[in-house]
Amino acid sequence: MLDHPATIQVLGPSQDKRRSPHIAIVGSGPSGCFTAQMLRKQLPQAAIAVFDRLPVPYGLLRYGVSPDHQGTKAVTRQFDKMFGSGEVDFVGNVSVGKDVSLDRMRTLFDVVVLATGLATDRAVQGVSGDRVYGAGRVMRWFNSHPDELLFEPHFGDRVAIIGNGNVAVDVLRLLSKGASAFVGSDLDPLRLGHKPSHIHVFGRSALSAAKFDSVMIRELASIDGLAVTVNVLDSLDHQDPGVRAKAEALRDLADGSALERPRVRIEFNFGWQPLNLEIAGGAQQLGLISTDGLSTARQIEVDSVVTAVGFAPQDCQPESGHTSTGSDPEGLYRVGWLERGSAGGIPHNRADAKLLSSRIVADLADETTSTGRRGLRALAPELHDKTVDFAGWKRIDEFESAQQREGRCRVKVPDIATMIEIART
Ligand SMILES: Cc1cc2nc3c(=O)[nH]c(=O)nc-3n(C[C@H](O)[C@H](O)[C@H](O)COP(=O)(O)OP(=O)(O)OC[C@H]3O[C@@H](n4cnc5c(N)ncnc54)[C@H](O)[C@@H]3O)c2cc1C
Repeated sequence: MLDHPATIQVLGPSQDKRRSPHIAIVGSGPSGCFTAQMLRKQLPQAAIAVFDRLPVPYGLLRYGVSPDHQGTKAVTRQFDKMFGSGEVDFVGNVSVGKDVSLDRMRTLFDVVVLATGLATDRAVQGVSGDRVYGAGRVMRWFNSHPDELLFEPHFGDRVAIIGNGNVAVDVLRLLSKGASAFVGSDLDPLRLGHKPSHIHVFGRSALSAAKFDSVMIRELASIDGLAVTVNVLDSLDHQDPGVRAKAEALRDLADGSALERPRVRIEFNFGWQPLNLEIAGGAQQLGLISTDGLSTARQIEVDSVVTAVGFAPQDCQPESGHTSTGSDPEGLYRVGWLERGSAGGIPHNRADAKLLSSRIVADLADETTSTGRRGLRALAPELHDKTVDFAGWKRIDEFESAQQREGRCRVKVPDIATMIEIART
């Protein structure tokens, strides 16, 4: 790492800058890594470096995607290959905006791509308190993210999940699975804890507008001991094939789960908007109102609430006060969730990366003069003690994979100091 020659110097008329630009990608989640992969193909002589604030790469692939979805997490293997080939540098443990300013990055690199994602859970108006947890935070905790080292959620017996997208269903599944169902996952056995006996899921929209995929509901059918009921304001019969698939998945789940003594009771409720969370008689009461035009009020007693209604930018953005208007300064780009908002999964990030890389190649082709920027090499003296490179990540990876207690495929190192120690061993 940090050893690319300073390829941009004085160029003659036949050499153009697009052949050897210095490119920094900030954020090593799927959108950053796919962008690096595509730029690598289109600009073979570019020096490409992918930065991350954490010592380990891959963003939400490592810290969002559920620990029991190892098949999805396996996307990282192609990125391991890319970094392992030495054609793209991984520069971990460097927070752009904190360790090095975005302005400085832009003086050193011809192209800076921001791929920093959206990490802050959107709040639900009127619903706050000690036991109200954002789903992104809960999933980071289940995934042993170092930011959640001190987070100790207390879900209790009765949990309300607000939201009807795939992340809401991820939380539901992790809270309702029994301990033995996590064999083969990378869920730290220390994070199993007490399981709720009642989980209510509330979506504001009708079932026809629910955002989860039917396959996510079908997966719940493999969990033992669930009793599921589905309360819809509209009908479970739908013409639209996508909606029908969701309705059928829910109906099958409910029909197949009529247990006399269930381990967990799950209630799906569509068409309810949360209003407030109040303490009454020593218990927390979640107040809701129906969205069917009748405004029927309802209250349920809960021990905790998990909000799963999307994500907003985190406080520590490399840039501040900059909105996506299509008029980014020259050489500065955004991609992935940061650009598009928190809708869409990994394939969407790949499509975004493809579009962006073509745009960057076209923009570079318009450039005719050298900027003399020196890229990562110029940054090396400032950062040399701090960075974790790809070899460092592989040492962490191997250490984690060797921790296979209780049938886990790996147990993640949960804190940054230990990660760095292992990376440097
Ligand atoms: C809980 C959850 C589960 C999901 N499960 C699935 C799934 O099963 N399948 C699916 O297809 N999609 C899933 N998704 C969606 C998918 O994870 C996103 O589409 C994707 O991760 C967005 O990619 P990104 O690269 O834009 O952002 P991210 O993955 O968030 O990556 C951003 C990266 O930027 C880094 N960063 C942030 N700030 C800085 C800074 N200042 N300096 C340097 N680095 C910085 C972060 O550390 C992070 O590594 C899930 C999302 C969530 C929240």
